[in-house]
Amino acid sequence: MLQLPLDEALIAGEWRRGAGPAADTVDPATGHTLTTVHAVTADEVDEAAERASRAAADPAWRELPAHRRARLLHRVAELIETEAENLSALQTADTGKCRTETLALVHSAAGTFRYTAAALETAEETVTPSRGAYVTMSVYEPVGVVGAITPWNSPIASDAQKIAPALAAGNAVLLKPAEWTPLVALALGRLVSRALAEAGLPAGLLSVLPGAGSVVGDAIVRHPRVGKVTFTGGTATGRTIGRAAAEKIMPVSLELGGKSPTVVFEDADVEQALAGVLFGIFSSSGQSCIAGSRLFVARSRYEEFLGELVARTRKLRIGPGTDPHTQVAPLVHHRHRDAVAAYVDLARSEGARVRCGGAAPEGEEYRDGAYYLPTVLDGLPGSARVCREEIFGPVLVALPFDDEDDLVAQANDSVYGLACGIWTRDHRRAWRFARRVEAGTVWINTYKQFSIATPFGGMKDSGLGREKGRDAIRGYQRQKSLYWGTDDSPLPWAG
Ligand code: NAP
Repeated sequence: MLQLPLDEALIAGEWRRGAGPAADTVDPATGHTLTTVHAVTADEVDEAAERASRAAADPAWRELPAHRRARLLHRVAELIETEAENLSALQTADTGKCRTETLALVHSAAGTFRYTAAALETAEETVTPSRGAYVTMSVYEPVGVVGAITPWNSPIASDAQKIAPALAAGNAVLLKPAEWTPLVALALGRLVSRALAEAGLPAGLLSVLPGAGSVVGDAIVRHPRVGKVTFTGGTATGRTIGRAAAEKIMPVSLELGGKSPTVVFEDADVEQALAGVLFGIFSSSGQSCIAGSRLFVARSRYEEFLGELVARTRKLRIGPGTDPHTQVAPLVHHRHRDAVAAYVDLARSEGARVRCGGAAPEGEEYRDGAYYLPTVLDGLPGSARVCREEIFGPVLVALPFDDEDDLVAQANDSVYGLACGIWTRDHRRAWRFARRVEAGTVWINTYKQFSIATPFGGMKDSGLGREKGRDAIRGYQRQKSLYWGTDDSPLPWAG
């Protein structure tokens, strides 16, 4: 584990304890307190924002050529890779996630810094067609101070997806991690601030500000120095942030919730589909925005497929994230486990068949952890709350469909539009359905695959804007058009 004072916040270039209330961070596998983190106050947010604004305007940063900012990003990637095992262990302790997953997230964070460095160095500004005696061009400038607010489910990956392009674009960043899982963001903050110091860049370009969303997050969003907010989290919070951003006429990007359909057509490769559906919903214990939480199976194959799926779900290995054999680790927090359990109880009361799971696992080894059995429900209409609302846990709801039109209607009958999975051997059908389904990402005969080079984001209540890809940096910049006169021909009102 990283030997760092993880109870300190990074406020305006200085590591110190926040002056706000203290909150324990708990290992959800054991219920033991890992450390106590002191939240920052709204005044400390103000201090960080003022310092960030000065740091962003400092010529040492603002005038730094792209290839030198890229060098900084590469250095951060290097530091993350050096600390990969420690960061992974820390994230497993803080979130409960499996070590294989947290290690992948750490390497993905390093990859994000490297990819962003390459995108930065190769980004071009455009000379636009001229209609007179001038050259016109479009240039991109930083917004100044970016507020980045992240959830608890994949901390280091979502932090990196925001910090890397925001810094690449020439901004300063105020990062607010989730109160349940602040430790990895604080550790990442140590690495980024070390790289900034080594490069002789202004302190205050990154602040890491732990604390409750309603206090610290809200103060960041409303601060007049903050020129853009990038948010990942629930749709209700995204809506609150969007309203506050509208008041300031401030750009905001929102990566929000999902209730993603996974579809098994009658001609699907059953082995592939079973593995994909299981991984799609139960990896990360279902705490994934793109979890395939609504399963649609062709009616002719429904019972056969569901029977086999349930049999395999029962065999999934439940345990702590530190055990390399674990497939389903505890949920992030005991309170979240209880919220998931309440959804299953609700489904029961609405007449669901609980095909497997539906309870915490029994056994001494699970007693103190935030465990919940992978659960498969069916027998409910699509209008039931568990078919419509994001549960964000290991709970799959299955429904049959009759034909493509019926499937499109059912799959799109959701406020969400984040992701979708399709299992079929018929590539024409896959193409047709992929184009009709309302989802920001569609996986065909695969699921939960990601590339930093491929834009990601939601439709409908799943969000606004895209992260990743070459254009990610542009999301943290303002476009400016320049006209350069090229000859002495008189303007209309010349004397
Ligand atoms: P959440 O409750 O919305 O919280 C997300 C972040 O926002 C946390 O840091 C939270 O702080 C903060 N926050 C809460 N209220 C705020 C306010 N009024 N102003 C500013 N910030 C505020 O979401 P969560 O439960 O942590 O995360 C789960 C959700 O994230 C799910 O809906 C999931 O689908 C979504 N998600 C989406 C994506 C995507 O890319 N689309 C990726 C991952 C997760 P505190 O919690 O510390 O109070």
